[in-house]
Amino acid sequence: RREIGHSTFEKIEEAVSAGATRPELPDYLGFDAYVAEGGYQSLRDCLSGERQVDDVIERLSASGLRGLGGAGFPSGRKWQIVRSYPGPRLMTVNGDEGEPGTFKDRHYLERDPHRMLEGALIAAWAVEAERIYIYMRDEYPAVLEILHREIARLEEAGLTKHAAIEIRRGAGAYICGEESAMIESIEGKRGLPRHRPPYIAENGLFGRPTLNHNVETLYWVRTILEKGADWFADQGKEGHKGLRSFSVSGRVASPGVRLLPAGTTIRELIEACGGMAEGHSFRAFLPGGASGGIFPASMADLPLDFGTFEKFGGFVGSHAVVILSDKDDLKAAALNLMNFFKHESCGQCTPCRVGTEKMVALLEADDWDEVLIGDLEAVMRDASICGLGQAAANPVRSVINILAKEAGQ
Ligand code: SF4
Repeated sequence: RREIGHSTFEKIEEAVSAGATRPELPDYLGFDAYVAEGGYQSLRDCLSGERQVDDVIERLSASGLRGLGGAGFPSGRKWQIVRSYPGPRLMTVNGDEGEPGTFKDRHYLERDPHRMLEGALIAAWAVEAERIYIYMRDEYPAVLEILHREIARLEEAGLTKHAAIEIRRGAGAYICGEESAMIESIEGKRGLPRHRPPYIAENGLFGRPTLNHNVETLYWVRTILEKGADWFADQGKEGHKGLRSFSVSGRVASPGVRLLPAGTTIRELIEACGGMAEGHSFRAFLPGGASGGIFPASMADLPLDFGTFEKFGGFVGSHAVVILSDKDDLKAAALNLMNFFKHESCGQCTPCRVGTEKMVALLEADDWDEVLIGDLEAVMRDASICGLGQAAANPVRSVINILAKEAGQ
């Protein structure tokens, strides 16, 4: 398997020699600069026995760090669960970042890639994973180049002896961001989500207990070990723990990645983005990418965190926030998102494969048949195998709710 990973890189080198353009690299913090500012000391402390696994996991749990790829599962708990299954174990890093509107992982990898790599190597040490597979979005050529270069430096420095790192390139399928589909893809198969249980913590990559983390989750591990669990937890506000990287797009003056306390509201986030774009007034927002629902401006004071929007039929997921204005057509937005799901459905189960197609047809009508939409929505939600089909109708339901509320006012 190692040869496959390297031959991919060699193919890139061959293509470059044959005249292909090498991606332009951003000005990122390389290995030497990272080490000069204390990088890899936490990993060295772990490898030398200076730090104990139980203490590290305890610190991670106390910090409140959760899975920032969208699921929000407590990270320390995940490490404990994976450790509880007999080895040998493996680790995967999900860098697919395919959720529409999400670009925070790219932001960090193009600036400070070693912070994620150190977090991954510490996590692999903690769960005794013998190999780390980084599944990286192929649409991020600069990130791929950076990772290839910097992993080579890590190998030279002898820091990957306990867990070798391999890169696997994604091929653009949204569903491969779903962890079990990603694992199928790494194994060289079609990216179809698996039925669960068993969960991948017990039976994951190549049938082994597997620890899977999003890029940003690992990015915070070193900081938490150095600054302490309380420091990280205290960054949140009003009972929410930690920091959140919001990928903000849409009708704001200054879109981009904003690092803010967990529990930040949409109103505060818009302010952090310089307010609304000129000529636009705030009408609605998507708190969590394509499937997290669409909510009206009247809900702008709710904290954007895990658990807040679920009771309204949505979620914050990877914290990809899209701001819509009075110039946006909400029905068109819902149709656009459903077309996306129709295109990206892996086709494995009928409620999603056929459901998304039928839903597109219903949404293309001038007058929405809300009874039929409601029936189809229930079938998709209740009977689809994975989150794509289960949540695909979230934006439709929320647009129906918003329009009903606006009509009643
Ligand atoms: Fe595939 Fe959709 Fe079924 Fe998920 S819900 S397994 S994406 S067809």
